[in-house]
Amino acid sequence: MIPYGRQDISEADIQAVVDVLRSDFLTQGPAVPAFEASVAQYCGVGHAVAVSSATSALHLACLTLGVGKGDIVWTSPITFVASANCARYCGADVDFVDIDPSTYNLSVECLETKLIQAAESNCLPKVVIPVHLCGQSCDMAGIHNLGQRYGFKIIEDASHAIGGKYRGEPIGNCRYSNITVFSFHPVKTITTGEGGMALTNDAQLARRIQLLRSHGITREAEEMTHAPDGAWYYQQIELGYNYRMTDIQAALGLSQMLRLDEFVARRHIIAKRYDTLLANLPLVTPWQSNDSYSGLHLYVIRLKPDRIGKTHREIFELLRGANIAVNLHYIPIYWQPYYEKLGFKTGCCPEAERYYGEAISLPMYPGLTESQQDKVARTLEKAIST
Ligand SMILES: *Cc1c(COP(=O)(O)O)cnc(C)c1O
Repeated sequence: MIPYGRQDISEADIQAVVDVLRSDFLTQGPAVPAFEASVAQYCGVGHAVAVSSATSALHLACLTLGVGKGDIVWTSPITFVASANCARYCGADVDFVDIDPSTYNLSVECLETKLIQAAESNCLPKVVIPVHLCGQSCDMAGIHNLGQRYGFKIIEDASHAIGGKYRGEPIGNCRYSNITVFSFHPVKTITTGEGGMALTNDAQLARRIQLLRSHGITREAEEMTHAPDGAWYYQQIELGYNYRMTDIQAALGLSQMLRLDEFVARRHIIAKRYDTLLANLPLVTPWQSNDSYSGLHLYVIRLKPDRIGKTHREIFELLRGANIAVNLHYIPIYWQPYYEKLGFKTGCCPEAERYYGEAISLPMYPGLTESQQDKVARTLEKAIST
């Protein structure tokens, strides 16, 4: 079976994890701050806080930006459910902005139209969460401009995008956002098994995310309501969670950071090769903006339904039947039963719905061989043309 994505673990990665297992600290030791420093330096951002997943990073990002009951958070319908669920955890309402037909990212044009309407009916969003789908940055300058005009804050869901650039600068530097979030799930560009990170240039936000990832507990005297009772003393000053990353995970992440650029370069070679192999088929290969150097987490093609004698589902199943584990990223979130029950209706994001009927994620990961890639292309061509 050729999977759509998979981790790449070296002997050095394994050794880094084993070293932690032989050390004094399995969690809350030196590996977590070292991993945080490595990612912060790579991205050129002031602060990085490692947590247990991108989902927990999104949750804490929403909380620290003040999202709560009565607030509204907007995101793209074409993303993993966690990009929307984070607002629901905080008691806020969610709404969706349709996608751009060429990047499949949240459309700045649709965002502006929706903001104008929302301003009239007094229901502007508190936070907008653009998602860098497949690793290609959203039009962050455009979104940031609208944020200034309409007063919303921005969380970049960059779960797909570590190692990518926007206008020549690393995704994660938070030039156009309050907080950026990465995921280190094994299908993503670098992995810690499970894990995530929140990045920001705002020291106060970073400190609050740190507090909330560990129960809201502080050991800093200046954050306490009175002088410490003794050396054992700590105070819980807020209601937080256990969203910590372990040192075992962080050691793996730190070791993977050494190969991040190599991983992304390899993804670009694979993408270029797919572009060539698929050039004459009735499908759309990924369009790349000049502003973007994509992290290329995913390689998504779109079938041209009026030029193919089979359905999207039939093509998908022929590939799966040939042991190619293609996937579909993503089902429009508002078609999930949980969101349907909140009242979302078909038709609310027509471009996203069209995308869902045509998109297929082809295998994309550093270890994909040329012969495996040739098999994918051949199988796809046969599926489409016979
Ligand atoms: C993977 C992913 C997440 C969730 O990441 P976890 O680390 O598994 O919690 C969130 N958003 C997007 C866009 C993702 O792809």
